[in-house]
Amino acid sequence: MKLKFYGTRGSIPVCDVGFQEFGGDTTCLQITFTDTNRIAIIDAGTGIRNLGKDLRAIGHKQDGINIGFTHFHWDHIQGFPFFAPAYDPSQKITLLTLGRGQTITNLQQIFEVQMQSQYFPVQLDHMGANFEFLQIADASKHFTAADNNIETVVTALRHNHPGGAYTFRIERSGKVLVVCTDVEHGEQIDPQLVELARGADLLVHDAQFTAEELKNRRGWGHSSFDQAMQFAEMAGAKRLAMTHHDPEHDDEFLQRIEKLCQERFPNAVLAREGMEIAL
Ligand SMILES: [Zn+2]
Ligand SMILES: [Zn+2]
Repeated sequence: MKLKFYGTRGSIPVCDVGFQEFGGDTTCLQITFTDTNRIAIIDAGTGIRNLGKDLRAIGHKQDGINIGFTHFHWDHIQGFPFFAPAYDPSQKITLLTLGRGQTITNLQQIFEVQMQSQYFPVQLDHMGANFEFLQIADASKHFTAADNNIETVVTALRHNHPGGAYTFRIERSGKVLVVCTDVEHGEQIDPQLVELARGADLLVHDAQFTAEELKNRRGWGHSSFDQAMQFAEMAGAKRLAMTHHDPEHDDEFLQRIEKLCQERFPNAVLAREGMEIAL
């Protein structure tokens, strides 16, 4: 597997001077299954616009594209109307929510509302692509299908965030990628999540705030850098990429934090837009 960050910013995109290194687009991750050259996408923040453009530029074609959503806050869906493949009538796109205890009642409606005429000039049913909307309680079962004789096992667990959000564990060819963003652990790191992330080759974790900032941001649904590292240590993760950077944290600030974090967890990085990590 190969992971590429197309959006690393939390809450709202920023394009100011001093935000170019870590990037200003909101959450979007591309996973490439290198053995079959197929891709899957997690979240459709503003970063998905460049993802779509890149697919076009390299002439990437695949019969169906899966986009899994951690949740549906603005910063995770805002780029969807600008995803070029969604305007291609020959393209099938599956939009997915995974995991038990979902609070979403109608997945299609979320995107219909986002694109209704008061908010956007093109409506969902006029985009062109062939959309499928899937709500799967048991993600693991659904994805345990042979693809080139190689299984991809996806397990999703609901975690604490206003309105709920999901952590994904994706296993393929003995490698484990865990994506855990928009998570607020509270006083104690969620032990069930730690188990889900056990032994991850790469853990992607929310780190919107410093420990100091977090004190005044209770209930906002996010983690501190320290909690991300604590989580990685408890789960025995081999590498850690921290993301969902606060829109107030500029490059200079994040560079300084990254150095401090690496003193505690040497295999930690702060995710940068365009960064690729092979597993
Ligand atoms: Zn978010
Ligand atoms: Zn959120």
